[in-house]
Amino acid sequence: MEAWRRQLEEPVRAFPIAKAGPAHIATLKTYDPPLSALERRRFEGVERRGKRLLFPTDDGELVLLVHLMTAGRLKYLQTGQDGPKAPAFRLEFEGGAQLVLTEAGAKKRAGVWLLTPEQADTELAHLGPEAFGLGAERLGEICARESRRLHSLLRDQRVIAGIGRAWANEILHHAGLSPYALTQELDEEEVDRLASAIDAELARGLDLRERGASDKRTYRVHNRLGEPCHICETPIARVDFEEHTIYYCPTCQTGGRILKDRRLSRLLR
Ligand SMILES: [Zn+2]
Repeated sequence: MEAWRRQLEEPVRAFPIAKAGPAHIATLKTYDPPLSALERRRFEGVERRGKRLLFPTDDGELVLLVHLMTAGRLKYLQTGQDGPKAPAFRLEFEGGAQLVLTEAGAKKRAGVWLLTPEQADTELAHLGPEAFGLGAERLGEICARESRRLHSLLRDQRVIAGIGRAWANEILHHAGLSPYALTQELDEEEVDRLASAIDAELARGLDLRERGASDKRTYRVHNRLGEPCHICETPIARVDFEEHTIYYCPTCQTGGRILKDRRLSRLLR
């Protein structure tokens, strides 16, 4: 998300907004203020909170909030550049450039909210602190407070903002920790390792994204079932846990153990 933010920062404030919308009915999550309230205003830039992008207007009156979820993509189109026929959301700037949100697949999960700054604060209040730069001390406090398995903790935006399932896999592999390790059982050295891994992996991801790398080049563990671990060459293993698929290296992360499926559906069978 940080790579998106940097890319959009300059272009979105170049011109005032000429036309906001249309938006897919499932994508636009708010109706008051109406989208038309954005017209003739100008964005101040782009901010990021966790996985959300915020576009505040330069008069301080409105904030456009965008959450891409898994399949959403935001694209800035120069004047005259061809865009998708029916994007989930479209915003046109004076002069003809456009910002469009598209979403692959039939399920519309990405969202657009138009909010007042007060509404935006409320909307974002439940988000935890930013993952990048969190540091060992704060991470240690979080681990001591939350009794959870690590993979689930890292993904929970209310606890730590900005890590999705793919990066949770990458970070835990980098830290050499089991996705099933319990937060309250980590020692100080393991918390240090996890805090460094969060920063190292998110920085690596940002750098690769800025250079336009594909998922395949970016992820070293995620979605690589059976491929050799880049550290020890053990085939990467996979386990389903809480509706998510976890990828890990049994040698680097679990002392050679294969993790058991912990989906509730399996337990009930
Ligand atoms: Zn390994």
